[in-house]
Amino acid sequence: MRILVQKFGGTSVASRESRLAAVRHVERALAEGYRVVVVVSAMGRKGDPYATDTLLSAVDETDAVGKRELDILMSCGETISAVVFASLLRSRGHEVSVLTGAQAGIVTNNQYGDARILEVRPERILEALERGCVVVVTGFQGVTLDGDVTTLGRGGSDTTATALGVALGAEYVDIFTDVDGIMTADPRIVEDARRLRRVTYTEICNLAYQGAKVIHPRAVEIAMQKNVPIRVRSTHSDDEGTLVTSATTSLESGALSDRFVTGITQAASFAQLVMDGPELPYGRIFVETARRGISLDFIYVSQDRVAYTVPERDAPAAIAIVRELGIEPRVVPDCARVAVVGAGIAGVPGIMAKIVSALEEEGVEILQSADSHTTIWCLVRRPDMERAVRALHRAFELSQ
Ligand code: ADP
Ligand code: MG
Repeated sequence: MRILVQKFGGTSVASRESRLAAVRHVERALAEGYRVVVVVSAMGRKGDPYATDTLLSAVDETDAVGKRELDILMSCGETISAVVFASLLRSRGHEVSVLTGAQAGIVTNNQYGDARILEVRPERILEALERGCVVVVTGFQGVTLDGDVTTLGRGGSDTTATALGVALGAEYVDIFTDVDGIMTADPRIVEDARRLRRVTYTEICNLAYQGAKVIHPRAVEIAMQKNVPIRVRSTHSDDEGTLVTSATTSLESGALSDRFVTGITQAASFAQLVMDGPELPYGRIFVETARRGISLDFIYVSQDRVAYTVPERDAPAAIAIVRELGIEPRVVPDCARVAVVGAGIAGVPGIMAKIVSALEEEGVEILQSADSHTTIWCLVRRPDMERAVRALHRAFELSQ
């Protein structure tokens, strides 16, 4: 049995017109002889009646609602979406079986709101596929061993899709979205961003971890475990999109390019804390911050300075912690992180020079920088973020 998993994101199922475009992809796959498993996200984005964020806004954060109940609430968007999608398929003459995450066998731990998949029990899907049904599975949902509903966190439907792809031995997992594939930068910021035809799991994982939200990095890691190829494609075209495979496969076909920069990414909503002084209590600063569960980035430690960034929402707590230790931090709120991502950048001379000059020319101040073997990050002010991304994209000539 040749199986294809096709995941349709929020905008791809938001309107009847989009759903029709999505159904055409399902029908094309059926005509090619595939058995099809469709994974759907909730319909639309914030503001749309059944989008996840809208459902969440039905309860106030201060209301007495537990995390377990929140997951029951949040999982509704995908349930509605699956039934609506299935009804369209059925009206066009297809046999359809709708399964919730639990019914599809997505077993998770009980980390509500961000649950991890422990196991997939695909028997019920397989049985429906064998009967000739198109199986429509609600994305984003799971179930604990005790039968409690869980959700998989942001981008969770991507994870549902690749986990099912692996469990079912699918030929491909298609991630349908509102852009033509994985681009060298967010096309909403860089108009002439170029679509990448082929990327490796590692490349796209790096890009996704650094903020390119076109696919969730956990979804990529799951596909990578069993080498299931992913195609990131547009719902509104027949274009092949971006093919994500392992490096070896690309090498075999001779398609692995020698690019050393994959793309530019951005992520906003950070605050920078800088502490100066001759006798900073380093240990206690880091121990106390960790104890409150605040994650740090851009960590800089020298004899008379400690600096780091925290997620904006954690800034008040992070500031309170250092004040309790008798230090008044300098705080730069509303920062963003822009990154140059590429497997080949480690140790290449001149990369930092290029980054610094590009940002300097644009009058963008670099508040801090950091690097790893695949990424160079610069911390900038949020109002400078878009300009910084465009400048770096130009400097590395990524649109050609
Ligand atoms: P979906 O609802 O289909 O899951 P998402 O909003 O999660 O869609 O992801 C698609 C969006 O990702 C695009 O609209 C685009 O703005 C954004 N994006 C960010 N970085 C990139 C990138 N490098 N390539 C493609 N899209 C990107
Ligand atoms: Mg998404």
